[in-house]
Amino acid sequence: MAEFVCTLCGRCCMGMGRYVKITGHMGPDRFVAVHELANEVFYPVVMRKYRDDFSVDERETPKEWCPFLMDKDESGNYLCAVHDTAPSFCKKFKCCIFKIFDRNKNYAGEVKGKSTLISKDENLKNIWNEDIMTYPIDDISAWKKNMQSKLAEKNYILEEYD
Ligand code: SF4
Ligand code: SF4
Repeated sequence: MAEFVCTLCGRCCMGMGRYVKITGHMGPDRFVAVHELANEVFYPVVMRKYRDDFSVDERETPKEWCPFLMDKDESGNYLCAVHDTAPSFCKKFKCCIFKIFDRNKNYAGEVKGKSTLISKDENLKNIWNEDIMTYPIDDISAWKKNMQSKLAEKNYILEEYD
């Protein structure tokens, strides 16, 4: 298995405003917060290097965003202002469980959640819809094995993230 590498696209955090709520202030850069999806209370501290640029009270970012997601930086990345003290849900989060490459090792798609294919490769989408989604999914490890063997048979290469 490969190690999952977050590309800092920020997409996952852009939908977390519904779930990440600040419930208390413990100082200008220290908070009590809850991640309601994970039912996790955490104590975020704005990282020192971001304190001049980030204030939860002066934000104009969409309400759908997590209150700790910073605006895009000059490299095009979206960073978490409280990265070191983010909840364990965020630290463990992987937005994709497999990446799929075609026979020429070109990116063909990825699997998100349990079994959702994100791809623009029409051949791959057909295999997914006509074969892979017909396999029973109640036993997820059996489903993964069947999926991997079907894609290998069709000359796709999978990279699984641990
Ligand atoms: S975990 Fe995935 S969706 Fe979230 S920022 Fe990283 S690459 Fe983007
Ligand atoms: S706490 Fe940080 S990593 Fe977690 S959702 Fe908010 S911005 Fe994203």
